Amino acid sequence: MKDHFGMGKSTKSIHAGNLEHPIYGEVSVPIFQSSTFSFPNADEGARRFSGDTDGFIYTRMGNPTIKALEDNLSALENGFAGMATATGMAAITTVLLTVLDQKSHIVSTACVYGPTRVVLEKEFSRFGVESTFVETSDADNIANAIKSHTEVVFVETPANPTILITDLGAAADIAHQHNALLVVDNTFASPYLQRPFEHGADIVVHSLTKYLNGHSDVVGGMIVTRNENLFQRIRPVLNLFGGTMDPHQAWLVLRGVRTLSLRVEKSQNNAAKLAQFLIEHPNVTWVNYPGLPDHPQHHIAKKQMDGFGSMISFGVKNGIEGGKIVMNNVKLLTLAVSLGGVESLIEHPASMTHASVPRKEREESGILDELVRLSVGCEDFEDLRDDLDRALNKIPS
Ligand code: PLP
Repeated sequence: MKDHFGMGKSTKSIHAGNLEHPIYGEVSVPIFQSSTFSFPNADEGARRFSGDTDGFIYTRMGNPTIKALEDNLSALENGFAGMATATGMAAITTVLLTVLDQKSHIVSTACVYGPTRVVLEKEFSRFGVESTFVETSDADNIANAIKSHTEVVFVETPANPTILITDLGAAADIAHQHNALLVVDNTFASPYLQRPFEHGADIVVHSLTKYLNGHSDVVGGMIVTRNENLFQRIRPVLNLFGGTMDPHQAWLVLRGVRTLSLRVEKSQNNAAKLAQFLIEHPNVTWVNYPGLPDHPQHHIAKKQMDGFGSMISFGVKNGIEGGKIVMNNVKLLTLAVSLGGVESLIEHPASMTHASVPRKEREESGILDELVRLSVGCEDFEDLRDDLDRALNKIPS
């Protein structure tokens, strides 16, 4: 891999991980669509298996196209090394499988991505892992939840779908005082806006499905570690459990990452303007966007992020009914879950993703009936504004 020390993040997203010695002078990293790699002789085969030499063996254990993506993401995060996974959930579960033991305790952001919470509550609990979910945007809650056997603090910031922000430096200090690791799901911000290692995190996980790929056409995940020790612990677990990536998938994500800076800049510019428009709309009751001075953690976002991103949550009049009316009347905004694509997506958790969760439980996690979540894309601001305005105006006053 080339030395990317000193390069800016846009340059890294385009150049980091590219083959140092292109085979035919190709500018795009080729798709090495091969499940296995031949050895020139038996001794070299033995050296590759023992780790005495570099070189590829079998795609589940490593592949040049996948490695290009791993090196790219690790450079963007300023980490030690990356490990690409089949999905974001494979990244999260592989990390948890590695760092949690029987009878471990984990403290996690309450409104983490739903399946992360389900995996801890329903699956890891079967092996004796205890989980405590707290609102980590208040660091005191993390400190109060720590137990003698806490191994991990797991934080998602900005969080989904409340868009609350956790202070990464404070979370890292609390975790490290108790010899626990800080794991950060950096999906919502992407390394273009937030690099958790700079604030003390030990492991970063991503759903590449979102901003990093950016085109809503592929799923994928990534684990990046701060140091070699954690990399050496996680890599064998990933190889053995097998949640690894496919070369074609890696190539698609690599292609998406090349335009990360353009997409993030355009979409967060749209988001800032839309947040302002929403504040002034008579059928909107509140707006949560980290760029707004009255967002409860605006000062933390300003400190640890390079920009405020393009996720907004807001409340509409008439609760569940109001939310449904907006969903049913948008034309340009796409009614779909997921986020981080070039197209804007809108969803209403209370009537869609979280409809099966009892109202009281939903509200305890900040998912109010009237909450609408918007993933702002790269369209023209005026078109997005007009579409939202039309849909919001359908709510009876
Ligand atoms: N983490 C966050 C914050 C997410 O929003 C998602 C998916 O929506 C995931 C992880 C899981 O990623 P994937 O769907 O790629 O498994």
